[in-house]
Amino acid sequence: MRERFVDGSGTPFPDPPAEWVRELEEFLRIESVSGDPAHAPARRAALEWFASWASRYAGGWEICEEPGLSPWLVGRVPASSVSSRDGTPHVLLYGHADVQPPGSPDSWQSPAFEPTIRDSWLHARGVADDKGNLYALVRGALDLAAAGRLPVDVTVLVDTDEETTGEAALRHLERDPTPYVACLVYDAPTTADATPVFVVGARGLIVADLVVRTGKADVHSGLYGGAALNAAQVLVATLARLNPVPDALRKGVAPQDAGQLARWNDATDGLTELERVGVAVAPQMRDQGFYGVTFASPSLDINGIATGDAAQEAMIVPCEAVARLSMRLAPHQDPAAIGAALESLLREEQPDGVQLEVRVRPTSAAVQFAPGDPVVAAVRSAFVDVIGRAPRDLPNGATVPLVSALGARGVPTVLTGFSTPDSNFHGPDEGLPLNALTVGAAACSRALERLAAMPVTDVG
Ligand SMILES: [Zn+2]
Repeated sequence: MRERFVDGSGTPFPDPPAEWVRELEEFLRIESVSGDPAHAPARRAALEWFASWASRYAGGWEICEEPGLSPWLVGRVPASSVSSRDGTPHVLLYGHADVQPPGSPDSWQSPAFEPTIRDSWLHARGVADDKGNLYALVRGALDLAAAGRLPVDVTVLVDTDEETTGEAALRHLERDPTPYVACLVYDAPTTADATPVFVVGARGLIVADLVVRTGKADVHSGLYGGAALNAAQVLVATLARLNPVPDALRKGVAPQDAGQLARWNDATDGLTELERVGVAVAPQMRDQGFYGVTFASPSLDINGIATGDAAQEAMIVPCEAVARLSMRLAPHQDPAAIGAALESLLREEQPDGVQLEVRVRPTSAAVQFAPGDPVVAAVRSAFVDVIGRAPRDLPNGATVPLVSALGARGVPTVLTGFSTPDSNFHGPDEGLPLNALTVGAAACSRALERLAAMPVTDVG
């Protein structure tokens, strides 16, 4: 039997009503693949479906569009148990309707966009990341609103580019002056025993593209090898300077509290985790532990290299080589300063005759939430009410630009969720336990009730 959600006494939560599953299946059949222009109509269709579904229960829903951005949806659901006025706390709920491409159909047991239930799990692309989680989150607010029991004003933000750029939500937030007391996001997996995780911090991100050119065209490696500058070799030498991450790119890293780091590392055994995903272990992992390297330190990965021809017997000196890099930033590192340091490292010591193009995009800073924040404590006690045990506090090495932006604005964000490590985020046979919907919706309803007591603070 696969992992399901159980209450404090070990009894499984009930499966959701058949109507919820039918509705979510409609949402999942829409092939709203992120980034790909061919799927742009489907991404819009996913928002149209969501708006027409949600407006049957409560609120005003509007699709927003802007040239160059994938569309997003904003729903305003006013408090229904009290009359909404200036002092009513306002809570933001955020999720995304775009999904990763499904990959090879052969790797799926049932088609990616044909939702299928096996073993009380619902399978489809996006069911865990993030459509099923988003459904449960918003269901929790709509059910309260429809029953006349919603004690806070709620804004729902759903974007369709989270898996690629995350730009639309940031752009929307820049212009949205609402003084949110809290933001709730369901887009993070639980621990292996299906205990929800509250993400206490996430790393920042810099993306860099590099093009090395050494000539007009590839040339014969017999006639010119050794005499002509080789773009592939220049690129490889340049990238070799970045591993291990040099001191210039470690500026600003503050040591993490050793006790806290040890507690996090106890909660996730890095060696087991890497074995589960099936990858070899980098040497620094053994010294610093999983969160020592995936949260407390920056990391720099070469995402891809393209140059020359490794498939055929092409005896050439390549004249062009490109690479894409991503760098994750530790808490307290300044994305602009580290981006500038990365650019100068890439440019230094290049041989004469190399044409180098470097494009560095500092995307977001790391974010870390203060332990003991009253908003987080209120949501935590709501989760304890519903699931009968406390969520685990853990950092997350990934980057959520919206959460960083909210952090900069002083809006405490609870990033959690009800997918499990078996949900296969971004992989084949993506799945979600059916009762994640029941428990996820109940936890959101309870959190909104608890947040009604939060004082409204001024944000700039
Ligand atoms: Zn997601």
